[in-house]
Amino acid sequence: MEREWLETDYYKILGVPKSATQKEIKKAYRKLAQEQHPDSNPGDAGAEDRFKDLSAAYAVLSDPEKRKQYDDAREMFRTGGFAQGGGGFGQDQGFGGRGQSFRVEDLNDIFSGFGDSFGGRATTTRAQRTGEPGADVYADLNLAFNEAIEGTTATLGVDGDFSCRRCNGSGAEPGTRVTTCPICGGSGVQAVSQGVFAMTRPCDHCRGTGRQVEQSCSTCGGRGTERRNRQIKVRIPAGIKDRATVKIPGKGSPGRLGGPPGDLIVRVHVGKHPVFGRKGDNLTITVPVTFGEAVRGAEITVPTIGGSVKLKVPPGTDSGKTFRIKGKGVPKKKGGRGDLLATIQVHVPNDLSEEGKALLDDLSEFDPANVRAHLGV
Ligand SMILES: [Zn+2]
Ligand SMILES: [Zn+2]
Repeated sequence: MEREWLETDYYKILGVPKSATQKEIKKAYRKLAQEQHPDSNPGDAGAEDRFKDLSAAYAVLSDPEKRKQYDDAREMFRTGGFAQGGGGFGQDQGFGGRGQSFRVEDLNDIFSGFGDSFGGRATTTRAQRTGEPGADVYADLNLAFNEAIEGTTATLGVDGDFSCRRCNGSGAEPGTRVTTCPICGGSGVQAVSQGVFAMTRPCDHCRGTGRQVEQSCSTCGGRGTERRNRQIKVRIPAGIKDRATVKIPGKGSPGRLGGPPGDLIVRVHVGKHPVFGRKGDNLTITVPVTFGEAVRGAEITVPTIGGSVKLKVPPGTDSGKTFRIKGKGVPKKKGGRGDLLATIQVHVPNDLSEEGKALLDDLSEFDPANVRAHLGV
């Protein structure tokens, strides 16, 4: 079939010389498209085929890049650059001649634009133009509190529909032939006319792949994907929050018909820390002090995520008072870090000895008469 499309003379179909300008090609196409449109030729069984050929010809010749590839491919074919006979060529085999090499994918590229081939009247669906994007794949990742703060790299076992390893995603049993679909000529689409609109739909024969597989892959049955577990390395940015998601573009299921692959979406679950809490970009910590330290003031040692710091507790500090330790919080997206909010908690002994209780009674003589006077009770 490769030979057939290479032997098709698109210039002849459009009735233009090989040297025709883009303007001439467009003009010729418009004229012929009007004449040969199936709606203008009711009852003419060949009209639709001729119109299809015309559209295919225009799709290639109206695109300077495709036109060049087409010219090159035909030239190479004419001069014997393609291997003749010998049963075609496999999916990923390069083949060449006269110092040039040419891959099957390149040929597919030439013909991949056929879905757009109806000029100004084109009505094609998005799926036909760009292929079907692959599905997103979801995975969960449990992180320790510190890993979420500082960021980490994790290797995740991800279950999803990934490229079949047996056929490398081609859907063809290794060693068997893959040829161009004889019905759509590799474009993957068929022309249909509906009212005044010329439209395309995926080719029935090849289900839009543009390829004919001699024998479907025994692992994936021709789908090109298999459900399996894949180890994927994921970089988690510093400061990620619990229940946040990280999107890794292109690591989802492969797309179909040239569509882009889906994404891997990692849902992050952050564990609790025995000492620190988190409020946005700030970390929180409760720091117990003794009654004596609260009354007389003290310099105490407070832990942070990256080593401990000294905190001056001024004399007469109340329980519940919060001190801000700058820059010892969570790394921010725009750089810098949040703060550590240290809340003082005056420790109340609950197992004081009789001797201790006696000392407290002595101390209470220095308390004001009624500490709850301002409550009005
Ligand atoms: Zn087809
Ligand atoms: Zn397979």
